[in-house]
Amino acid sequence: MIIDRLGRQFKNLRVSLTSACNYACTYCVPDGKKLQPLSHELNGEELFHAVRLVVEGAGVNRLRITGGEPLLSKKFEEFLRGVMSLGLDDVGITTNGQLLPRYMPVIRETGLKRINISLDTLDASKFRSIARSGDLATVQKGIEMSLDAGMRVKINTVPVRSGNENQILPLLDYSLDRQIELRYIELMNMGHLKYSNLYAQEYIGMKEILSIIQEKYEIRPANAPVDSTSIRYEIPGRGFFGIIANESEPFCRTCSRLRISSNGDLYGCLSN
Ligand code: SAM
Repeated sequence: MIIDRLGRQFKNLRVSLTSACNYACTYCVPDGKKLQPLSHELNGEELFHAVRLVVEGAGVNRLRITGGEPLLSKKFEEFLRGVMSLGLDDVGITTNGQLLPRYMPVIRETGLKRINISLDTLDASKFRSIARSGDLATVQKGIEMSLDAGMRVKINTVPVRSGNENQILPLLDYSLDRQIELRYIELMNMGHLKYSNLYAQEYIGMKEILSIIQEKYEIRPANAPVDSTSIRYEIPGRGFFGIIANESEPFCRTCSRLRISSNGDLYGCLSN
């Protein structure tokens, strides 16, 4: 078990399979530059070994596979099978969904129950201008296939002023119609945003998101696990949504997450 000096016990592990991505989202990387695979990334066997050590040593019982884009990695299939054999309480994937239709048979076969899919807009041309790659229809197909497979699907969206401000309600309706929990992620002040005034221009905070939603819906606070990253709300009769308010309401004090990067570094913070 790992307990840090603030008394936090780490139960969750996020594993980045690769830092490479098939998107180049405007808020994530500068100038259309895609993250490149690094030559010092661990191979699948090494990464799985690292995961086992952390799972056994720290008593982790929940694991999320992320990236970069995890489905882009050649390690994905074998790694997922390995992780699913560990008998953890919960395993999930966070993906941009672009390669989901291709990998759905493997994912179904492993019995994976939870998937978080990133989707910033329902407008196909805006999609291309934000992600600078990929296509909306394929992601939507991946969402439907995940639902058909009986998985618990969440959609992650990052509202930004110049890109998808007008998508706050359409994405909520799309998700509610499918009993999917949508999570709005406040734009994080990291990467290239940190050294520019773009961040302040693009940031849309929880208060504003809530007031846009309240123009249409009555909402009420909903329960969430104490170490949840998301502040959850219920729209009575329709469903739930959440806001990951990492900037306006940081959740560091209750965070229970460790992170392993694709080159095998272990972090006690998701933002490092
Ligand atoms: N490629 C996968 C995906 O798109 O879900 C997993 C990795 S991606 C880094 C995980 C999430 O982080 C995505 O929902 C993405 O939109 C979000 N993200 C990237 N840069 C961000 C930023 N500066 N602030 C907030 N969220 C960000």
